[in-house]
Amino acid sequence: MATELPNRRPLVGPAPVDGCRICYAAVQGRAAAWTRGDERGVQSFNEMVDQHPHQRATDRRGTT
Ligand SMILES: [Zn+2]
Repeated sequence: MATELPNRRPLVGPAPVDGCRICYAAVQGRAAAWTRGDERGVQSFNEMVDQHPHQRATDRRGTT
């Protein structure tokens, strides 16, 4: 009944910021959620990528 098109790709959504470990974790989780068929999980991980303050490893540690 509530079947949507199954053809959507797992990697649609906001792109992770390079070097941001939160993004990294989110895209890992998103892929896992997609594998499980957990669309809500995919969406919440997309929101996570979109909404958190990105932290690049090089941003804060470059200067002491
Ligand atoms: Zn990020």
